[in-house]
Amino acid sequence: MSNLNPLEVGMMFWAVRDTFDEIKTMDVRCGQLAIPGDVAITPEFTAKWKADLQAANFTVVTVFCVYNGEDYADIPTVENTVGFIPPATRAERLRRTIELSDFAAALGVGSIACHIGFVPHDKTHPNYIAVLDMVRRVCDHAATHGQTFALETGQEPAETLLEFFKDVNRSNLKINFDPANLILYGSDEPLPALRLLAPYLASVHAKDGDWPPKDNKSLGNERKLGEGSVNIPAFIKTLKEVGYQGQIFIEREAFDPTERITDMRSEVPYLKALI
Ligand code: MG
Repeated sequence: MSNLNPLEVGMMFWAVRDTFDEIKTMDVRCGQLAIPGDVAITPEFTAKWKADLQAANFTVVTVFCVYNGEDYADIPTVENTVGFIPPATRAERLRRTIELSDFAAALGVGSIACHIGFVPHDKTHPNYIAVLDMVRRVCDHAATHGQTFALETGQEPAETLLEFFKDVNRSNLKINFDPANLILYGSDEPLPALRLLAPYLASVHAKDGDWPPKDNKSLGNERKLGEGSVNIPAFIKTLKEVGYQGQIFIEREAFDPTERITDMRSEVPYLKALI
């Protein structure tokens, strides 16, 4: 099984968008592999990843599901396009999530994850009921592979997510905690949220950012690690205090590709020094 250390630094990276050869030069031994929605999961694709990971002695901890039609332009667009919330894409995204669970299983990966979108506060809302059912189905399928299913934080306060977890009532439902998302969406203070959600942590993103303007529309800006409002040193300290034993994955998204890769590379020594 895994030879990884608690709090080991890894990289959140993308199939197709990133090249694995580049990721391998970043002085990390593990990562989370995001699969864009338009990538066909063929036997050849699966075999190639399996061979490349083995050859590099690189461990994928999580396969991240990203769906066709998702758009993170601003908060209303996220509400309308991301995850399990939009009714029109639910069936297709359930099918895709199950396909990626099977892909992860073929690689020996023990966790899948995604953004499910904004979970409504109102438990009687049709979206709440439908998404609850969908998450249970994914959990039950993942359980057949011995996998956890991790929901990425950010689009709702920790309290709402905690209530949702109790209602789903599946032991393999977990959290991929992203401290920056809570700030970027203006949804919660990351460090108290981390303490509240600690019993459910499967994996963690190291990402930074600033609070959004108070227009209920715009997202905050992502920042280089240590330069935003998360307080990354305090975040690492809190992870230690709550006894987190998993790995910490550097993530950069909303930047031009060159700057993104350059920043990710420079964030590895920064984070390792803190830990
Ligand atoms: Mg994230």
